[in-house]
Amino acid sequence: MREITPPIELVLADAPATTRFDTAWVDVPEPVLVELAGVCATDHDDERTALASRDWWPLSMKWALDGMVPQRCAVVCRPQTTDQIARIASICNLNRIPLTVAGGRSGVCGAAVPLHGGVLLDTTAMQGVVSIDEISHVVEVLPGTFGPDLEARLAEHGLTVGHYPQSFDIATVGGWVACRGAGQYSTRYGKIEDMVVGLEVVLADGTVIRTGGAPRAAAGPDLNHIFLGSEGTLGVVTRIWLRCHPVPTSERRAVYGFRDFASGLDACRRIMQRGGTPAVLRLYDAAESKRGQGGDGEVCVLLVLDEGDPASVGASMSIVDEECLATEGCQPRDVEAVEAWLHHRNDTSALQALTRKGFVVDTMEITAPWARLASIFDDARSALLGVTHARTATCHLSHSYVDGACLYFTFAASPPADEFESTYNALWDAGTRAILRSGGNLSHHHGIGLNRSRFMGEALGNGLGVLRAIKSALDPHGILNPGKMGLDVD
Ligand SMILES: Cc1cc2nc3c(=O)[nH]c(=O)nc-3n(C[C@H](O)[C@H](O)[C@H](O)COP(=O)(O)OP(=O)(O)OC[C@H]3O[C@@H](n4cnc5c(N)ncnc54)[C@H](O)[C@@H]3O)c2cc1C
Repeated sequence: MREITPPIELVLADAPATTRFDTAWVDVPEPVLVELAGVCATDHDDERTALASRDWWPLSMKWALDGMVPQRCAVVCRPQTTDQIARIASICNLNRIPLTVAGGRSGVCGAAVPLHGGVLLDTTAMQGVVSIDEISHVVEVLPGTFGPDLEARLAEHGLTVGHYPQSFDIATVGGWVACRGAGQYSTRYGKIEDMVVGLEVVLADGTVIRTGGAPRAAAGPDLNHIFLGSEGTLGVVTRIWLRCHPVPTSERRAVYGFRDFASGLDACRRIMQRGGTPAVLRLYDAAESKRGQGGDGEVCVLLVLDEGDPASVGASMSIVDEECLATEGCQPRDVEAVEAWLHHRNDTSALQALTRKGFVVDTMEITAPWARLASIFDDARSALLGVTHARTATCHLSHSYVDGACLYFTFAASPPADEFESTYNALWDAGTRAILRSGGNLSHHHGIGLNRSRFMGEALGNGLGVLRAIKSALDPHGILNPGKMGLDVD
């Protein structure tokens, strides 16, 4: 069984980990511990509960180096069946104990942190593919399954889901669904919400429901979408049905250089609007092109890779080539850059090395309509660079659609140690607000968690009231992942 890969080490001298937040903390009383232990494996050891309460939120990685976790759960539960999860939910609900679900704990916004203690429900004892419908191309999979294991099973049947997030090795299918994840090949295969056929979900009171299950429906709103992106605040996803595709029989690659980011963006827009769907379409600004794609500091590099049926790959790549070469100043470049990207695309060790050296470093991914992207590119970088101690703010386009695309900003700062946290928060405030003002949204695929909770009102307006109403209807005692996504009424 695959295990969780921990983020940057938790540095403990002689004392146990301390907690950064002094939020109201809910213990699990002894009789409830006994009841939970009768349902599944549990663990309330001090060090292991601290370790299980961490994810990859960059701010908390800095705290880890100082021996701190954001907050700590009282007990970890490791259920193996839906029935066990239903019983855990019911016990927590009756006893008003917070219940925070965690998968691979690869989230980068603190979503899996048990902010108010209580139970941490680890799904990684529920791994595996349950069934494969080879005619309909639908796979049924358990929530704690990691990407490589899902794809290995599907490959035996000549199938793929095609979801390859950078965190492929360390994230679970349940986490993909709960955070509305996006893979690096999303322009052909879609985002996770395009792949989900149906879900099994355990509600706060232990009720088990099934959502979706058909290619399309007209029986009211799609209930899959209540739980997609709900980050463990509305239910526990216990089983997932995903669409699959035949393993690709052909692959083609291309690389182009644009003289500026705006003209590259416009070429990507035209490719998408003509119906091109190259799996990978990544446009880097001049700084990122130089840092990792062989650029000279001026050129903006576009990496393209498509895979699938040769006829459809050929059509997409022809559209790509025509639109790129129709752009003034665009030149084809050495296709080797795609191979290099394939080799280093999931390596984030450089970012962790910067954290160890005391740098603030993080990423911010958003979407906007094509008409807004060029100004967001300028406004967000100016806002980020305007923050005291900021060092860099760079960007690439990573996922494209007919009406817009995802811009992915990477930023770094070098504050004095006692200003680390204030600088981190100031960067998020400045970047997020500039993006929202310029017509972008709050997140494309990393989600909200703790880090972005404070922006939910600004981003959703009155819509946040609707989300809060759904939350109080489904979870009236607020036990599911409390303190996240701006859902708690102030
Ligand atoms: C190096 C790195 C690269 C990354 N690259 C990408 C990327 O390319 N694309 C992308 O989309 N994301 C990326 N991420 C973010 C992260 O991997 C995703 O958000 C991922 O989907 C989280 O899955 P997880 O299993 O680790 O979830 P966790 O971090 O354990 O949990 C995340 C949230 O989902 C909830 N949750 C988890 N499982 C369930 C469940 N079964 N039912 C209900 N709620 C649940 C948790 O309560 C929490 O709120 C990256 C992260 C890292 C560290």
